[in-house]
Amino acid sequence: MSTFDAVELIRTKRDGGRLSEPAIDWLIRAYTDGIVTDEQMAAMAMAIFFRGLDADELTRWTNAMIATGERMDFSSLSRPTVDKHSTGGVGDKITLPLAPLVAACGAAVPQLSGRGLGHTGGTLDKLEAIPGWRASLSNTEMLAQLESVGAVICAAGAGLAPADKKLYALRDVTATVESIPMISASIMSKKIAEGTSSLVLDVKTGSGAFMKSVADSRALAQTMVGIGTAAGVNTVALITDMNAPLGRTAGNGLEVAESVDVLAGGGPSDVVELTVALAREMLLCAGIDTDPADVLASGKAMDTWKAMIRAQGGDPDAPLPTARHTEVITASADGYLAGMDAMAVGLAAWRLGAGRAVQGEQVQAAAGVTWHAGVGDRVAAGAPLFTLHTDTPERMERAREALADAVTYADSPVDRGPLVLERISAT
Ligand code: URA
Repeated sequence: MSTFDAVELIRTKRDGGRLSEPAIDWLIRAYTDGIVTDEQMAAMAMAIFFRGLDADELTRWTNAMIATGERMDFSSLSRPTVDKHSTGGVGDKITLPLAPLVAACGAAVPQLSGRGLGHTGGTLDKLEAIPGWRASLSNTEMLAQLESVGAVICAAGAGLAPADKKLYALRDVTATVESIPMISASIMSKKIAEGTSSLVLDVKTGSGAFMKSVADSRALAQTMVGIGTAAGVNTVALITDMNAPLGRTAGNGLEVAESVDVLAGGGPSDVVELTVALAREMLLCAGIDTDPADVLASGKAMDTWKAMIRAQGGDPDAPLPTARHTEVITASADGYLAGMDAMAVGLAAWRLGAGRAVQGEQVQAAAGVTWHAGVGDRVAAGAPLFTLHTDTPERMERAREALADAVTYADSPVDRGPLVLERISAT
């Protein structure tokens, strides 16, 4: 492989130029191997943040990230594989009920998941609230579980797109996450390397999402669908609302409990709606003609959930941890809830200990926020609006600050608006 001068490449991108294919291959490999430094890659990430990557650069960048690691192969499975990936939101626990639901309908769901990034929660952090559950599986264990249970939610092994692992952590601490090409390459390199046949993307839009406008979310969705399709992965995206948080909880154990409610036939209506909408798309991609709403109602998805948790050492019937300290915030006015800022709620849950302030920090299983009313609901002044949960009460004050202006009130009923805003496919 030819070698390049990292400073020269940064300057080229900074000044609006194009990176050649050999230059991209070298840069990604050299960064993964520690030859290009974090400082240099941080400068490159910021240059890309402002200048972008064109379609050819992005394809090469994504392929170069895939080439730094292994590619998994699920072709030996008897069921079709289909995966879902969300770009990250607040209260977004959808993977938890969705993976067992789609598996109960007959697909294999290899859900390689991550930990929290910034104010957004991480699926693995949530499941680790279940006593005994383990996130790390070998490739052989994963394949065996996909065949026997149909669903696996586990950590992406160190061998899968290692370039993304380094770059993701670097972007998190250099304000370069919210970039369409870098989010696209990050997500699609992992999903293509994972080897799923089909992929449904949940592209979040709004205050609690990395993309705040529908136009940017649409561009992100179109970019990712284009990369997936070109790589032979049957890819579809839904653009979904993330102005208000999903469900009634944000926090690890709290969100597991809410997901179990959904699997038991209850739970908040928005979580049920999005779970079923994404399941329909996944089953369509996998060529399975089953109505997921019927399977959810039948209790089969709950059976698959329990089997999936047990297969990874967890006890699905064990009580979930509860926080040592709780505090209630009450509504300040009579009326209807007109808005609840997802970013504020995510920040509060994070500050209470549900997320990390520094890389590798332990999260609290029981920390987070519960809200007792959603957008459109009637509230009375003085009635409980939020409950804060934490093991470390000194965190309460900063969480209260985050929520100070989180809700708006209206005198007349307010409609939350549609949850699924658009569907983006290759054709
Ligand atoms: N999720 C990812 O996997 N990568 C990003 O860059 C953002 C969200």
